Amino acid sequence: MKPFTVRLNFHGDLTFFLGRKTRVEIIERSLSEKTSVKDVVESCGVPHPEVDLILVDGRPVKFGYALERGADIEVYPVQSACTYVEKDRLQSTGAKRFVADGHLGKLTRNLRLLGFDVAYDRQAQDRQLLGVMESENRALLTRDRRLLMHTVVKAGYCPRSQDANEQTIEVIRRFDLFRSITPFTRCLRCNAPLQKVRKADVINKLEPLTKIYYKDFRRCAGCSQIYWAGSHFSKLQKRLDEIRANFND
Ligand SMILES: [Zn+2]
Repeated sequence: MKPFTVRLNFHGDLTFFLGRKTRVEIIERSLSEKTSVKDVVESCGVPHPEVDLILVDGRPVKFGYALERGADIEVYPVQSACTYVEKDRLQSTGAKRFVADGHLGKLTRNLRLLGFDVAYDRQAQDRQLLGVMESENRALLTRDRRLLMHTVVKAGYCPRSQDANEQTIEVIRRFDLFRSITPFTRCLRCNAPLQKVRKADVINKLEPLTKIYYKDFRRCAGCSQIYWAGSHFSKLQKRLDEIRANFND
């Protein structure tokens, strides 16, 4: 096969994934064999779960589309301004359940605080993460691009920021979660749902001052941790308000 050249133009914040030198520039790739558009896009550093629309010479294609000759490739992120019809979109926004890699402990806590179901094991290896993702149908959250590039990843996201609160906002945006926020309904430690309990049922597990000052209690259905609106709660509430302030429009 005669070598041929394809040109890729990455739109929106997909330039985040490109090497510093190539940012904002059109990238050229020389190919000498039939190659899937997914492989060419990922060879530039952009994981496929970040890509919502690919146009090859103006026509929308799927990730498996085989490139055989020179072409112009436009690559768009999720929720870009580009208004192509739904069927040509490569991602769904609707994920509500997640699995986060071991480096995203604070993001996990924030998302659980907002009521979202996030599987997390600080020591999980890549294979375990992908296993949980597949068997429990969860979207993968990781800053490891190589991991996101695995073919088995159907939905996933790489937080751009290093800051947990900003990451939380990014995830809410990416998966359109704002309307699904239900604060203080999930255990921050183990991810199980919290259940309302009568004070009388937990009173012998409480410190003396907690017994006096608080009347509403919730208990984790998984690890039995008891939650109430104590001082740690107001700290959490403050963080929640900070995150919510970003969605007041
Ligand atoms: Zn728990």
